[in-house]
Amino acid sequence: MLTDRPPARPALLQEFRRSDQLDTLDLPLDDRFTAPARMIESAMAGEDRKAVRLACMEFLQKASEFYNVRTPPVRVLAARPIQVREGGWGMELFGDYDPRTKVIRVWLRTAILKHVTSFGTFFSTLCHEFCHHLDFELFGFHDSWHTRGFYERAAVLYHHARGTPRKKLFWVPMRGGRWRINWARTNRASV
Ligand SMILES: [Zn+2]
Repeated sequence: MLTDRPPARPALLQEFRRSDQLDTLDLPLDDRFTAPARMIESAMAGEDRKAVRLACMEFLQKASEFYNVRTPPVRVLAARPIQVREGGWGMELFGDYDPRTKVIRVWLRTAILKHVTSFGTFFSTLCHEFCHHLDFELFGFHDSWHTRGFYERAAVLYHHARGTPRKKLFWVPMRGGRWRINWARTNRASV
């Protein structure tokens, strides 16, 4: 995972920095997120795309209610579309989010490898795309960058909903103000 390049415009740069520093999310004390996450997992195991979509809708509804934002529509596609917006959002291998329509798309198969996305990857994509939604709807950012804070927030949501322990993410600075995750260190620290 790699963070986006910081924007040049000062007003956006300020938001980018806020996003970078905001490394947590409020979470419910009950199981309202974990129950729909389990529904998605069993629907995927049954290879029932309609059931997967309903479970995703349930998760997004519960999460949107909790964060007091509009519920984003979701499309669960059988395979990754050929045309996927890359641009500044080039890391969206398993899903995407359209800031204009608020639509989240997630797909069950990757286009090139044709293999089935694992539940972990699928669900972390759903959390990732929902965090793009939160950037606009909850935090009021004018763009949704992949900052260190963004990845932390997505991870907080994912681990909470799956009931798995949160990993501390270790970052390595790159050129141009970007960061990449040091997976070796991150994985070592979590065991
Ligand atoms: Zn993204």
